[in-house]
Amino acid sequence: MSESRRFGRYAAGSVLAADPYKTAAEVKERARSLGFDLVGIAPAERSRYRDYFRQWLDDGKAGDMQWLAARFDERTDPAVYLPGAKSVICVAMNYFVPLGVSLESSPRGRVARYALGDDYHEVIKPRLHDLADWLKTIAPEAQTRCAVDTAPVMEKELAARAGVGWLGKNTCIINESIGSWLLLGEVLTTLDLPPDNPATDRCGTCTRCLDACPTQAITAPYQLDATRCISYLTIEHRHEIAENLQLKLGDWIYGCDICQDVCPWNRRAIGTLAPALAPRFESGTIDLQELASWSAEDYQSNLSHSAMKRVKLPVLQRNGRIAARNASLIG
Ligand code: SF4
Ligand code: SF4
Repeated sequence: MSESRRFGRYAAGSVLAADPYKTAAEVKERARSLGFDLVGIAPAERSRYRDYFRQWLDDGKAGDMQWLAARFDERTDPAVYLPGAKSVICVAMNYFVPLGVSLESSPRGRVARYALGDDYHEVIKPRLHDLADWLKTIAPEAQTRCAVDTAPVMEKELAARAGVGWLGKNTCIINESIGSWLLLGEVLTTLDLPPDNPATDRCGTCTRCLDACPTQAITAPYQLDATRCISYLTIEHRHEIAENLQLKLGDWIYGCDICQDVCPWNRRAIGTLAPALAPRFESGTIDLQELASWSAEDYQSNLSHSAMKRVKLPVLQRNGRIAARNASLIG
């Protein structure tokens, strides 16, 4: 691809830095100084999975997550979300925390690691805004838009394109140095920056995540039926959970880490450097009898600033009842 096409001088609204390579290096240095472990730059191109994603939605694989279907054009094209967008600065923060073992004998429910610390939106968003504000000091004409998690952005595809990590068969972004315990964020910008090389897929012949998934939610390599995933069932699915899936939830009451726990690329995971992500429950679990008796005040105080507040108390207690029943069945 020629330099002029890559940096799109002709594109309406786009901005070109005097020295794009130097600016890109400064952007990455700045992102690291803000506490992001990984950073890469992707071209703000339309999603290559647009048709697949449409079909996935039409097949009902998103379940109750109707918000995924909304803003389809914005979600699948960064230049619709931010008109004139040329680059997406993709960042990732390691959230791995080693967990202690609970010595309590009463049954406990497990919480996915990403939800054990402070709400990752609160941790990532201010840093993204800092990065965007700083970008405007070196390129005042550049427009920016920050995105994390629920924003209409295909963040895993962009992270893979930016070289942050490859999209694994378990549909997580995996970095060959630090694994897949990664929170993702993006700054879309009209500033035209040289893109990084996409990450190389290193899953190889491994199928550990597919074999370990208790609900067979990974229906084929790289394909997830969200409606079967424990993460969806315990967080997004607010109605009764189908009887045949309830036992498979095991002791998970908020999310599920199994397909990341078994991934060989996570063997050498190191603890997060972000104090805000330290676990509020050191064993990563909650006593199920206590959870059953939580009042609204207990919920507020135990989950202050927690991402777990995405589920209201009745849903969390529903999950707790299923986990307690599973524990009694297993004995
Ligand atoms: S999070 Fe759990 S249920 Fe979902 S795909 Fe991974 S292993 Fe399966
Ligand atoms: S467990 Fe194996 S197949 Fe699954 S994401 Fe990790 S490396 Fe890829």
